[in-house]
Amino acid sequence: MDNVECVVVGAGVVGLAVARRLARAGREVVVVEAAETIGTVTSSRNSEVIHAGIYYASGSLMARLCVSGRRALYAYCRDHGIPHRACGKLIVATSPAEIDKLQSIRSHAECNGVEDMQTLDADAARALEPALHCAAALSSPSTGIVDSHALMLALRGDAEDAGAAFAFHAPLLRARVIADGFELDVGGEAATTLRCRLLINAAGLAASTLARNIDAMPIDRIPPAYFAKGNYFSCGAKAPFTRLIYPVPEPGGLGVHLTLDLAGQARFGPDVEWIDSIDYSVDPARAERFYPAIRRYWPGLPDGALRPGYSGIRPKIVPRAVAVQDFMIQGPPQHGVAGLINLFGIESPGLTSCLAIADLVGDLAGVPAPSS
Ligand SMILES: Cc1cc2nc3c(=O)[nH]c(=O)nc-3n(C[C@H](O)[C@H](O)[C@H](O)COP(=O)(O)OP(=O)(O)OC[C@H]3O[C@@H](n4cnc5c(N)ncnc54)[C@H](O)[C@@H]3O)c2cc1C
Repeated sequence: MDNVECVVVGAGVVGLAVARRLARAGREVVVVEAAETIGTVTSSRNSEVIHAGIYYASGSLMARLCVSGRRALYAYCRDHGIPHRACGKLIVATSPAEIDKLQSIRSHAECNGVEDMQTLDADAARALEPALHCAAALSSPSTGIVDSHALMLALRGDAEDAGAAFAFHAPLLRARVIADGFELDVGGEAATTLRCRLLINAAGLAASTLARNIDAMPIDRIPPAYFAKGNYFSCGAKAPFTRLIYPVPEPGGLGVHLTLDLAGQARFGPDVEWIDSIDYSVDPARAERFYPAIRRYWPGLPDGALRPGYSGIRPKIVPRAVAVQDFMIQGPPQHGVAGLINLFGIESPGLTSCLAIADLVGDLAGVPAPSS
């Protein structure tokens, strides 16, 4: 039976960042991933936005890790040549009645440490984006976009350079607590048993299911898992915007917003569709709700331009009736199992925050930060 120091479960962007952090600090790391390669689940089904940290509840893990993670991510992208762009974002009031909300969004953002927001009147906003309809806008220059696949490849490369090993088609089935660590049953074609001292559960949508299969994990510390699908529509017409465009948030969501990929192609969404099981299909009929919402800020959206795109599923740990969730990152003080760290509810801004989450996991595990 193989003994390793640390096992990271899941090779999404968060598991990869954690593996890199631990390996660069000199720890022996094996990443076990159920799928055939890195980043095939939520980490490749998102908006690829580098969030500034505007909306999250002040003092929450999301707010703190987004702001520090965003700074770290821009630096990492610059250092590693990862395609990205600080294209900026406009939050638009589409009627005079919404203008007051912009001021409260700005004040909230400043509490979160997002200090660079600017308030624009309608003329100033249209000078930036001539096709935009709005009564006023807030500009967030530090919002950007990133090539999430290039990011994940770089994280994997760094982890491997520091000695981490990867096992694909290798689902962790269950873990038993033994003296000084865990015994792990890993399934797949090359099923095996591993021993480790530190176990990181970065299984994304499956994190709660996996936690139930760790024998000492107290059931009352495991959050329930809910799924909230986000559907995207692509745009057959060329969208005349160079920044991301968001309406003022509505209860329960950010509204139908426009994001861009690095090629300048627009996509709309994600919306929020609560589902009972994993299903990535996009119902074309949902476009009917997108058209009027988009035309409030882009009246020029042509009829028939929206095409069903892709979807991603948010790993929710609170039910639909609860509007706000935070990341839940548990170490031994929270659940009482030595050597175990669980990452639950890592929805947006998990991509932006991945490096900061990895640092927090390193701290919780008592692994000193690498020297460079
Ligand atoms: C619609 C949508 C839009 C989003 N947009 C943004 C955005 O613009 N900006 C942003 O910052 N964030 C965004 N996010 C959030 C971001 O995508 C996630 O927070 C991030 O990808 C989570 O990464 P992860 O590694 O935790 O999970 P995942 O990418 O889901 O990785 C988990 C991995 O664990 C593996 N796994 C599961 N169970 C096991 C097991 N038992 N054994 C072995 N392996 C296992 C899976 O195969 C998977 O590869 C968005 C999310 C959604 C749903």
